[in-house]
Amino acid sequence: MEKNQIIKLEITDLSYEAMGVAHYEGMTVFVNNALPGETVEAKILKVKKHFAFAKIEQIIKESPDRVNIKLNQWVQTGLASLAHVKYDKQLEFKRNQVVNLLQKAHLDDVKVGETLPSPEETGYRNKAQVPVREVKGQLEIGFFRKHSHDLVPLTNFFTTDPEIDRVLVAVRDILRQYHVPAYDEIHNQGEVRYLDIRRSKATGEIMVILVCLHKDFPQLPKVAETIKQIAGVTSLVLNYNPKKTNVILGKVDYLIFGKPQITDQIGDVKFKISPESFFQINSLQTPRLYDLAIKKADLQPDDIVIDAYSGIGTIGLSVAKHVKSVRGIESVSDAVKDANNNAKLNSISNAKYVTGKAEEVMPRWAAKGIKADVIFVDPPRKGLTPEFIEAAVKTSPKKIVYISCNPATMIRDLQEFMNEGYTFNQIDPVDMFPQTPHVEAVTVLERARK
Ligand code: SAH
Repeated sequence: MEKNQIIKLEITDLSYEAMGVAHYEGMTVFVNNALPGETVEAKILKVKKHFAFAKIEQIIKESPDRVNIKLNQWVQTGLASLAHVKYDKQLEFKRNQVVNLLQKAHLDDVKVGETLPSPEETGYRNKAQVPVREVKGQLEIGFFRKHSHDLVPLTNFFTTDPEIDRVLVAVRDILRQYHVPAYDEIHNQGEVRYLDIRRSKATGEIMVILVCLHKDFPQLPKVAETIKQIAGVTSLVLNYNPKKTNVILGKVDYLIFGKPQITDQIGDVKFKISPESFFQINSLQTPRLYDLAIKKADLQPDDIVIDAYSGIGTIGLSVAKHVKSVRGIESVSDAVKDANNNAKLNSISNAKYVTGKAEEVMPRWAAKGIKADVIFVDPPRKGLTPEFIEAAVKTSPKKIVYISCNPATMIRDLQEFMNEGYTFNQIDPVDMFPQTPHVEAVTVLERARK
């Protein structure tokens, strides 16, 4: 097999990154955009020892699960790489990810629920982080082509709240109007690297963050004045990111005008969110995810609850009024400030959040003899550490509710908890990210023996 060769392939599977999988002369071939059940003529793009990458030249037999979408760029960029699949099949794909991982871990007897569909299939994101680059001599916003840093210019981001798309385009036009240079990542030059925009569905507030190479630039006063005129914009922040890096946000924020946070709401709890704080991006699905997690926790009025990887305290503060007390841990200090302020904002006096790494704070709490009845964990993709798990078990919780955005690390961690005497019998996938291959899942571990 060699580059540029054209071959006929039968697609048998979908990889966890949503690439079509085919087998050809002992090689596994990953075909961009192809779906199981399809026969395609594909062009080989890259050949490795045991596998290759290819793209579709022509679909010979089309899958009934394929949707012909308006803009193929959504699929070509990493923005929405499942957008060519019917929504019910996307839900099935996500459930299958969990089933396959359980099988690999020899945990076939664990039940996997149906994936909880998102109330909105498109336009659900309350936040967009969009690269700004120069393309053909013009400042553009868009998204990178998969596995590259080639910007595909876009004005409709498909999964983002259309109100955010409107502001993205308006800000792009203002940057063009005042000739603000786009960031040039090869020479670490230019100015605006990303637009980061958040909008609250509950209050309509919109925060615009310009991620810039410098703390200031000559056109900033005029740019700020004009952004202020965009309907709905309630704050402008300049995030200073001087480094040559792929990390989107720098460490320092300057409030240019407006409110330092935007206010959102989950259920009947209000949240103020700072620029650096994590907030779940699917506003309508989040309360449904939390309801499921909270139901699994079966909380009692006397329970002591730990909210680990708490962000701005959304889970702990949603349950605080129904339990004895809540302690939270989160590594981003602005998010911890938000969490403690959000407790006050909602007249909650039995919740306290501390800054620190969960894998360091939990062992300290365990060593002090702190006990918990229920622990919620909601870690980033890399999951928990053995230190965290060991310490969590020492606080002898009846239940551990695990919310995960990566079922592979979740199942690894669940096995670790099994070794410590905890059991679980069901995992429920929840679709937080329609049109993308990302899988969110919830499970509850219960103590099997003392
Ligand atoms: N439970 C929250 C946040 C979940 S996202 C919610 O539902 O909104 C995961 C959070 O873990 C992020 O806020 C991130 O800043 C935080 N985090 C990442 N690594 C961490 C660590 N080692 N210790 C504690 N918190 C961490």
